[in-house]
Amino acid sequence: MRPQAPTPRLEVDLEKIRHNAAALVQSLASRNIAVIGVTKATLGCPAVARALVEGGVAGLGDSRMQNLRRLAAGGVDADTTLIRSPMPSQVDLVVAGADTSVNTEIDVLRMLSSAARRAGRTHRVVLMVELGDLREGVMPEDLDEMVRVVIGLPNLLLEGIGTNLACQNGVIPSRLNMDQLSTLVDEVETTTGVGLSRVSGGNSANLPWALGSSDIGRVNELRLGESILLGRQPLDRRPIEGLHTDAFRLIAEVIESKVKPSHPTGAVGRTAFGARHVISGEGNARRLVVAIGRQDVDHEGLVPIGDAAIIGASSDHMILTSPSDDVLVGSEVSFEPDYSALLRAMTSPFVDVVIKPGPRLRCRDRLRSNG
Ligand SMILES: *Cc1c(COP(=O)(O)O)cnc(C)c1O
Repeated sequence: MRPQAPTPRLEVDLEKIRHNAAALVQSLASRNIAVIGVTKATLGCPAVARALVEGGVAGLGDSRMQNLRRLAAGGVDADTTLIRSPMPSQVDLVVAGADTSVNTEIDVLRMLSSAARRAGRTHRVVLMVELGDLREGVMPEDLDEMVRVVIGLPNLLLEGIGTNLACQNGVIPSRLNMDQLSTLVDEVETTTGVGLSRVSGGNSANLPWALGSSDIGRVNELRLGESILLGRQPLDRRPIEGLHTDAFRLIAEVIESKVKPSHPTGAVGRTAFGARHVISGEGNARRLVVAIGRQDVDHEGLVPIGDAAIIGASSDHMILTSPSDDVLVGSEVSFEPDYSALLRAMTSPFVDVVIKPGPRLRCRDRLRSNG
């Protein structure tokens, strides 16, 4: 058999990621905003994290302790922030494996304080405040009280305040809510007498505000994942000027290529995944079955490179139509993933992650070997 790259595979171009990180670090530096590179979509891939560090990020953030530990085990030397509020069951892990964590619950902070004391360490804390997107965050009117409690807890150091918009309800970071954050920071400093060095304004959705507004107030940090990795604005998916949008490419293999009718035959009910069948086109057309499915990827977040179009997917099969007749069994089809597709492909044990350059760089252990 001819030697072949494994499929499905996710090809990762580290140089493009480094370039994207450096470009965003540079344009935000002109606004005095530091960048935390968020690695969760890559499951804390050390090779990707190193590219972010080379691009000049001030620190790394991930939502899961397993990923932060993977970074440490991979020898990545960077300041780390756990960007999801710690699970009470993990406070000891958090204190051991993250320099800072974001927090919203007094009980968790008390547990972190005890864990830090047990470990003989100081753990740093950023309090997240709710500014309307209704995911994590202390209500603004409760922030003052929370700050007072945290500064009284041994072995915790309050670094600053953060917020997160856009992720749950699509609330757009704007002059209004970002000014509210800055005002809160000023007020808390005045009433408690504590200095807040870190004001973490949000994620990739904050970029239009950060680069476009005349006054960014007290915000001095953004936590960026999608914009660095995919080179796009999350709010409208538009490419960011000067950034690569193709640092990741998903490649899957054709296992069937046949001309078939465009309409199913027989009485039609709901499909395996609940959706109704979508009819595409008339007459006969070439359909490709590709060996990848919902277990590996969010197919709705894939854009095929070339002239094939995705019709749908079940657990292990993805169906495309192809206008050209020369797509044979065994040929490869490539796709550009969006954030959701990237996240799922990275997480699937069936998808090989192929890092370029360098055969020795690995993202994670593979389910199977291809030797
Ligand atoms: C995922 C996440 C980010 C990064 O978001 P992107 O849209 O990928 O930039 C930032 N902050 C928090 C709290 C997150 O959960």
